[in-house]
Amino acid sequence: MKVEIIKENCIGCGQCEATCNEVFKINDDGVATVIKENIKEELKDDIIEAADGCPTSAINVENA
Ligand code: SF4
Repeated sequence: MKVEIIKENCIGCGQCEATCNEVFKINDDGVATVIKENIKEELKDDIIEAADGCPTSAINVENA
């Protein structure tokens, strides 16, 4: 699966990092970044939960 942050939409609330800190991290600019390249299937549910919980719909998830 492919995960990306739409940086213009991110308000840096930290919800995604709190939900799945293996994949999401707030960087020095105060926006979320994806810190994992090859995302395992086991993390899929957490990633979807993070994306659904993002208040600005800034997380884009595509199934590769
Ligand atoms: S939950 Fe959404 S708005 Fe909040 S830090 Fe993550 S990507 Fe940004």
